[in-house]
Amino acid sequence: MTSFKALVATKGETGPNLAFTEFAESDLMDGDVTVRVTHSTVNYKDGLALTGRAPVIRRWPMIPGIDFAGRVEISEHPDFKPGDLVILNGWGTGETHLGAYAQKSRVKGDWLVPLPEGLNPDEAMAIGTAGYTAMLCVLALEKHGLKPSDGPVVVTGAAGGVGSVAVALLAKAGWHVIASTGRPEEAEYLKGLGAAEIIDRAELSAPGRPLGKERWIAGVDAVGSHTLANLLSMTKYGGAIAACGLAQGMDLPASVAPFILRGVALLGIDSVMCPKPRRLKAWARLAADLDRERLALMTTRIPLSEVIETGRAIVDGKVRGRVVVEIG
Ligand code: NDP
Repeated sequence: MTSFKALVATKGETGPNLAFTEFAESDLMDGDVTVRVTHSTVNYKDGLALTGRAPVIRRWPMIPGIDFAGRVEISEHPDFKPGDLVILNGWGTGETHLGAYAQKSRVKGDWLVPLPEGLNPDEAMAIGTAGYTAMLCVLALEKHGLKPSDGPVVVTGAAGGVGSVAVALLAKAGWHVIASTGRPEEAEYLKGLGAAEIIDRAELSAPGRPLGKERWIAGVDAVGSHTLANLLSMTKYGGAIAACGLAQGMDLPASVAPFILRGVALLGIDSVMCPKPRRLKAWARLAADLDRERLALMTTRIPLSEVIETGRAIVDGKVRGRVVVEIG
């Protein structure tokens, strides 16, 4: 095909102007691998890009979409040949490099991860950047030396994408998972993913004390702001919190008390520029460890034509679990 279907964002007054259109293959950006995209997802960051609520898009026109799975069509990269199934997460895709909400993408082969054995492209995008980030959080907690016998783990934004995958992964690994959610109606869903306890996110979202009662040894935080500060203040001696998100806010109104009095560690997690060896490890662990029934439980599917409204829903906190975009 010399042109293909794509969602194209052009710069508007108050946010991006979005249109489904035919995109000329000759207008794709430089790269040594061309991929026929079959699946993408809607992550929180995609919602921010589509709504313009944060300046995620930094090149116009842009094809939004920060992650995809698909089949290599053309490759000048030694690691990939036509027909290979691949995954892409981040590296500026959908921000500075034409992204995933299209039937084709041309990228650097160095950005691609081979689809691990045991996962199909649909499952890979059910996991998506949110799930891969949840795995990076789990790897960071393990690297810190923490294990299920040390105490409970707390997961915030639990009914969202990162949260749902984190709950499923940690429960499968034997952790006592405390799931924090603002949606009490999702309690049964979270228990189905393996949560042992559900707490109301209101317990964590208001300004708190420098040190609180010790409640957990580890945490995965997708929320930031007061929630992250409170997580730190309630972490047991020697524990750690893996921080990856900002759904409540980008601020961190915390005290140093948990660090200097309890030896608590704050582990920063970035998925976008994460080095390739850690990506390969995360995807291999996801393929081996993530319970497929629980993955199915957290996944819904939409056609490309519904990404704009789903982007609005995710930033409004109305999406449960993960959304696969079937590009077809
Ligand atoms: P989702 O929208 O799926 O999940 C976010 C969840 O946070 C919501 O479902 C909700 O969970 C909770 N939440 C929403 N608003 C608030 C609020 N005001 N206060 C407290 N909790 C809130 O998004 P994702 O899972 O895709 O992403 C989660 C976060 O992680 C985002 O901030 C995203 O930008 C970040 N992220 C960072 C990455 C990195 O590389 N560091 C990579 C991927 C994601 P509930 O209803 O259960 O309370």
